[in-house]
Amino acid sequence: MYKTDYHMHSVYSDGRSSPEEYIAPAIAAGLSEIGFSEHLTLFKDLEDWNMNPVNISPYINNIQTLSNNTKTIKIRTGLEVDFFAGKEKEIREYLRPLPLDYIIGSVHYLGEKTVDVGPEFYEGKSIDSLFEAYFDSVLIAVESDLFDIIGHCDLIRIYGYTPSCDMEPLYRRLARAMKQHNVAFEVNTNGRNRPLADFYPDRRYLHIFRDENVPVCVNSDAHMPSRVGQYFDEAYDLLRSAGYKEMAVFEKRTRKMIPF
Ligand SMILES: [Zn+2]
Ligand SMILES: [Zn+2]
Repeated sequence: MYKTDYHMHSVYSDGRSSPEEYIAPAIAAGLSEIGFSEHLTLFKDLEDWNMNPVNISPYINNIQTLSNNTKTIKIRTGLEVDFFAGKEKEIREYLRPLPLDYIIGSVHYLGEKTVDVGPEFYEGKSIDSLFEAYFDSVLIAVESDLFDIIGHCDLIRIYGYTPSCDMEPLYRRLARAMKQHNVAFEVNTNGRNRPLADFYPDRRYLHIFRDENVPVCVNSDAHMPSRVGQYFDEAYDLLRSAGYKEMAVFEKRTRKMIPF
């Protein structure tokens, strides 16, 4: 079976290892194609988890050279770009000249803080309001037409807080927008390693993405080589049981669908 993993972080952002060190574990995990997706966060102070933009060219050159020199597995060049509503034009101008295979758009920030900074972010706040604000932001990211894949579309679940409102309409609205704007989503297996202890998005709503015919890929969001391709058999089984039969692959920002 052809498997891809397009969401991996190396030392260019907050991963533990060099891109080269991911190759052998990816092959051992049975992957046919991988891609690096370093954090790029414009409009915020540089933090230790995002790539310094001065490294964008060295990063792309490194991955392209690695790709050209590696015959045993396909290697793609991507980014995981933080989305900020109102900054669409600037993000588009920044990304336009970059020779990328795909761009993952992610919402980490709600206001000045990221929703994965720690459970204290949620204390004293309305969980319903946070979920609604997060989904609103992801929806605007989808509608921006900036991205090929939306990263962990319900990251707001990371610490296991659950809203009291019915989430089904929010997932439905998001899935419809993804289809309309031709954006894929990912089953992100890294949620299993976080307090949530399950994948993103919530498996109870996967059928909605299938109903709306949204393209999907399975990604690990690995920050260390041992996590590349982690839990993928389970993720593909989950997708099969939701009715999925094919997944999205990317090259030079063009998507193709292949069966699994
Ligand atoms: Zn992320
Ligand atoms: Zn990531």
